[in-house]
Amino acid sequence: MKCIPVLLNNSNWKVREGNVRLWYYNFLSSRPLFAEFLEGEHSQIRLKDLVIDNVLDDEELQRLLGLEKTDEVIGRVGKFGNSEDVLLWLPKKDGCFNTKSAWYVIRVRLPKFGRAKWIWHKCLPKKIVVCMWKAVFNCLNVDEKVRSVGVPIISACNCCSSRGIEDLDHILNNGDFASNLWRKVFA
Ligand SMILES: [Zn+2]
Repeated sequence: MKCIPVLLNNSNWKVREGNVRLWYYNFLSSRPLFAEFLEGEHSQIRLKDLVIDNVLDDEELQRLLGLEKTDEVIGRVGKFGNSEDVLLWLPKKDGCFNTKSAWYVIRVRLPKFGRAKWIWHKCLPKKIVVCMWKAVFNCLNVDEKVRSVGVPIISACNCCSSRGIEDLDHILNNGDFASNLWRKVFA
């Protein structure tokens, strides 16, 4: 339901037979009529109810909406035809909805992360990449993280001969396994 305004703002009718409610869709340049007019007799009107000889009855529109809005509506509706009206999805050039383009409309973009190209490198196995990404954003599932959200556990790592407290730094840097590995890499 939260996405309905997004859908309305990103779609538009290509009017042909005019079987579309005048009230609910973007026939004004900025927003639908319901955003500007109180509900009234025009709320149930379909465009085809206002057509005379394939064009909108501007006198009736003016009576309902006033001169200025009538011009806007007529300019946006275009020509009528005998085929079905088509609802166009504006983010795509061909007007066809797909979930990929919808995702780009609703996604929240964070500032670019400088090291992303290094981490999401095509030569790295995905499970390593995901682990690195979680480590960078401090969401690796280590004991310290579990404790920080209120789960009372006694921390004991699996990487040292005498078990230490498992936090991010220990797992990736200070623990026996990690420090031996780093030593070999830099030897
Ligand atoms: Zn350890």
